[in-house]
Amino acid sequence: MITPFQKPIPVTRPYLPPLDRFRAELETIWENAWLTNNGPTLQRFTTALEKRLGTPHLSLFANGTLALQIALQALQLSGEVITTPFTFVATTHAITQNRLQPVFVDIDPEFYTLDPNRVEAAITPRTSAILAVHVFGHPCRLEELADIASRHQLPLIYDAAHAFGVEVAGRPIGSFGDLSMFSFHATKLCHSVEGGLLTFADPQFKEVFHYLKNFGFRNEVEVVLPGTNAKMNELEALMGLHVLEQLDPLIEERKRIHSWYLEQLTSVPGLRLPPRHSPHVRYNHAYFPIEVEAGSFGMDRDELYHWMRRHNVLVRRYFYPLVPELDCYRDSTRKQELPVSQQVARRILNLPLYNGLTEDEVTRICEMVVAGSASQHNPRLRRAA
Ligand SMILES: *Cc1c(COP(=O)(O)O)cnc(C)c1O
Repeated sequence: MITPFQKPIPVTRPYLPPLDRFRAELETIWENAWLTNNGPTLQRFTTALEKRLGTPHLSLFANGTLALQIALQALQLSGEVITTPFTFVATTHAITQNRLQPVFVDIDPEFYTLDPNRVEAAITPRTSAILAVHVFGHPCRLEELADIASRHQLPLIYDAAHAFGVEVAGRPIGSFGDLSMFSFHATKLCHSVEGGLLTFADPQFKEVFHYLKNFGFRNEVEVVLPGTNAKMNELEALMGLHVLEQLDPLIEERKRIHSWYLEQLTSVPGLRLPPRHSPHVRYNHAYFPIEVEAGSFGMDRDELYHWMRRHNVLVRRYFYPLVPELDCYRDSTRKQELPVSQQVARRILNLPLYNGLTEDEVTRICEMVVAGSASQHNPRLRRAA
């Protein structure tokens, strides 16, 4: 008998560091009365990130969306940017906010990242950059994209909002491409309540970003660029520091949760579990996306979505609808065929995964999934559903 959870299980839940130590450090901020504008806590967070990521070139922002928008602004692009339809809408907004045109090309059916062959086929003289997304923390096809970008002399930018902590062949994911953006939003694995980060290969960007996130001020009397306000504040930086400190145990815990799901769902017909792990990649285990194949599962994705929600498991359909199918982008783009993205968007469902989710809860969630499938083959249960 499947009973609903009494309290809703969200798809994600922010990690909160122990309050005592946080409070002690708040006192320092109170004493300093320095709340934003490159304060001492922000500088500490910057140094800690440099150490963790092994790169001297990074810049913190108020959020990931503004960070990405500013990255594209700094590159002074024009015309079109090749990107993915299977992402959070902020990826595309960062393009259009810069008065650039997104060109959506299809994704790889296994990892949901941009298909390099289609990227190459979509390049025209108007193409000015490639913006790819490490969806659900799975690295893009890095070598192929780098090769295409360099042959066509196009900047290669990664939306790495899902991928903090991921490493490929011992290299942090942010060291690939020209620029990478990370989001420190509360729903992300590593967070600062709200926050964003750019990592980049060219040290010249450091100064440009410093100006662009602070109205373009060089000093009290000189404004050198049409910047915005995208600074991270001291309270956010403090949260970021405390979460970052716990990153390795947080990833370890998520890895365990991941393996509980795998153990219990592997033999369920009609479910495609997250792709096999490559031995060269250190994953962050931030998400647990599954694909529902209605024919053999017995329910389609939307039926399973409603079934789970009725039982108080707040699963989410990331990413559905696809960005080019949203009202504000429906008419604005150079049309490409997107058969893989469309199929994935119809089938994808993210199960809850966050620090603090217990083995017992995962077991109940998995039993619920299995019962959902079974109910479709059983007329009595079917009525109850
Ligand atoms: C969260 C997210 C963003 C936006 O980051 P914010 O910090 O919330 O502005 C951008 N792209 C992707 C893929 C995301 O998941």
